[in-house]
Amino acid sequence: MRVFASGPNENHRPPYEFSGGRVERAWEIPDRVTALLDGIAGDSRLTIEQATLAKLDCLHEIHDPDYLAFLKETCEYLKDEALFPSVFPYRSDSTRRPNRRQPGEYCFDTHTPLLAGTFEAACRMACAALQAAEAIARGEQFAYALGRPPGHHAERAKYGGYSYLNGTALAANTLAKLGPVAVLDVDVHHGNGTQHIFYERTDVRTASIHGDPTNLFPYFSGYAEESGTGRGLDCNRNFPLQPGTGDRDYQPVLETALEWLSKARPAFLVVALGFDTHELDPIGGFKLTTKYFTRMAATIRQLNVPTVLVQEGGYSLQHLGECAAAFLQPLTFMERGDNSA
Ligand SMILES: [Zn+2]
Repeated sequence: MRVFASGPNENHRPPYEFSGGRVERAWEIPDRVTALLDGIAGDSRLTIEQATLAKLDCLHEIHDPDYLAFLKETCEYLKDEALFPSVFPYRSDSTRRPNRRQPGEYCFDTHTPLLAGTFEAACRMACAALQAAEAIARGEQFAYALGRPPGHHAERAKYGGYSYLNGTALAANTLAKLGPVAVLDVDVHHGNGTQHIFYERTDVRTASIHGDPTNLFPYFSGYAEESGTGRGLDCNRNFPLQPGTGDRDYQPVLETALEWLSKARPAFLVVALGFDTHELDPIGGFKLTTKYFTRMAATIRQLNVPTVLVQEGGYSLQHLGECAAAFLQPLTFMERGDNSA
């Protein structure tokens, strides 16, 4: 399996975040990538390559052009500071472009600062996701975009949840030009950005299994009744689960989600791969064991379609590597052409 790595992106190292009105340590840091790479370093079945930083014209297909220009220009303007919004607009019908000092129009939380290097880092991760999708389009069975920052919380014109550019959506949108796509989001947090981007589309069917947003970020989306709109009605499903969900309760829900996705007869699958469902993740709240990630991947593999993995969350530096190694194990021993799964 080819692994497209974004690199740790040291130029995007948030110094802190605001949570519940307090200054808290930042969880989404470059060390996550080092931990993931350390975990899979010994596996000779993986080819790990640095993703190439390329021009990303196709980003405009999933993100608003003004939003992209805002992110790029604001990051160029920043020096050493971390920019957080102080005010979020109480209505969003202004025709004025947001002030570079007040990003609240384009941001939905206080966990996700802009730094001088943020846009480049987000582009590097988007390139990793795109290049993994292109590998699948060329005929490979599995490819993994390993890196940061995550993307699945980024909507068409909003950043938040540590996400700025939605690599999962970029991969899905790219593959949707070749055939129907299924997206499965297994991060512990609802993939609100991916849901939002495809909410009216029929060519990308989206399912997310996550902690009940009644008491977990992003709070305002991820409920079971959100099923798509317009032509996209019934093309989105959410599976909110209670805090403390463990292996035994997770597995039947995973099977239900995959069965629902399979009904669209997808030609490709994109997995938004969060390891913050692990039992020792500091911000997740689920109780999945390391060993379970092998079973999760083996179950996903049964869908038997070419699959892109895009790294999303996971914040236990001590366990990220073993989670990745456990997940990749059933995907690397055989590749395309094997239909026995
Ligand atoms: Zn997450």
